[in-house]
Amino acid sequence: MFSKILIANRGEIALRVVRACREMDIRSVAVHSTADSDAMHVRMADEALCIGPPPAAESYLSVPAIISACEITGAEAIHPGYGFLSENASFVQIVEDHGLTFIGPSAEHIRLMGDKITAKETMRALGVPCVPGSEGGVADLEAARRIAGEIGYPVIVKATAGGGGRGMKLARDASEIDAAFQTARSEARSAFGNPDVYIEKYLARPRHIEIQVFGDGKGGAVHLGERDCSLQRRHQKILEEAPGPGIDEETRARIGALCADAVARIGYSGAGTIEFLYEDGEFFFIEMNTRLQVEHPVTEAIFGVDLVREQIRVAAGLPMSFAQDDLALRGHAIEARINAERLPNFAPCPGKVKTFHAPGGLGVRMDSALYGGYMIPPYYDSLIGKLIVHGRDREEAIARMRRALGELIVDGVDTTVPLFHALLAEPDIQRGDYSIHWLEDWLARNIESPQRS
Ligand code: ADP
Repeated sequence: MFSKILIANRGEIALRVVRACREMDIRSVAVHSTADSDAMHVRMADEALCIGPPPAAESYLSVPAIISACEITGAEAIHPGYGFLSENASFVQIVEDHGLTFIGPSAEHIRLMGDKITAKETMRALGVPCVPGSEGGVADLEAARRIAGEIGYPVIVKATAGGGGRGMKLARDASEIDAAFQTARSEARSAFGNPDVYIEKYLARPRHIEIQVFGDGKGGAVHLGERDCSLQRRHQKILEEAPGPGIDEETRARIGALCADAVARIGYSGAGTIEFLYEDGEFFFIEMNTRLQVEHPVTEAIFGVDLVREQIRVAAGLPMSFAQDDLALRGHAIEARINAERLPNFAPCPGKVKTFHAPGGLGVRMDSALYGGYMIPPYYDSLIGKLIVHGRDREEAIARMRRALGELIVDGVDTTVPLFHALLAEPDIQRGDYSIHWLEDWLARNIESPQRS
């Protein structure tokens, strides 16, 4: 086992990794920008090193700075968290070239799944059902018109290098395909440095259901059921739950086995998430994330396992600590992503947190790097915490989330807490009856321009 791990991240996920290290008796090293000198992950880790100025490109994304930090501190392995360098195949290559261990899959698997066209082709070949669409990339306008016509409108043009909900354009009918194709290409070129796009059928009312998989890197893999992440704004998840409302045991076992088998066959190592759109009882693959997800705690809650611990074990060459038959799903879990943002338009709201009080009690977990007196810097993501609750069933989990939100105090900055109070009072949410478009429709009626409702 490693004796020291460097965490190439910040905020709640850096803390999450520090906690797993401490329970495993592994020393942790925090790295930070000058804007984060007083951050909680810096205080909680065993050692800390400043690696650059506030812009992430010069600190959290600086490969030379991070590799040097390993050399200075003697860390043997790097946990990348999510975001930043977590899905950067060339970073993984460099880490390995320096004789260090990357806690995550191989560079080859990250590359394979990082290009969405190749990912789809790979999954299709492994027998995983995909959203109907173009075979590979779409080279020019003429091809885009022809292929969109064949698939049938509405269609969505997506960047093969896309991520974070960017680089997607909807074409409702033939009159919109030229603009969708051209804007998607030029946005993809400027955002990702790769203009290649592909076309998919745009599904009208799907849910976003993703399967958590875990590979041992030696041809073995398990699945840990699904999460429903349909509540999204601008293709970004807001609230997640597990299990998915209405997904029965037989369906879970079937799609789960298909996913576990796919990752086992490619020799995948570590945590991964296979994302699907789910409509009328059918699953359609959209992409695979080759890292720990923000929403992993809901899965941890219902299966009672520590996914970060497992990542570290597998990266150290140890066998997994559970097999498929050991995994029994218990109860229901919900996560609310709390952002420092001001409604109605979700403008980032950095600033000084005067008071912070985390909720507690049975079945409540708060993953947050806040503390009273902390200055939220303006340079990074606005996620300031994740509130996760676990109950015996969905109804109990919802009641617990409403109770816990009521206990949470973040004074000094605006947060998205009021949004969750309102959402959890909605009958559709209480019934679990919502698609990926539900939240945007609801926001348009209730938050952005309530006078229209
Ligand atoms: P990203 O990597 O940017 O997150 P994804 O391919 O995972 O992109 O898609 C993000 C979200 O965009 C999905 O959860 C869904 O809400 C929406 N989306 C993607 N593809 C489609 C599609 N074919 N039809 C309808 N919505 C889609």
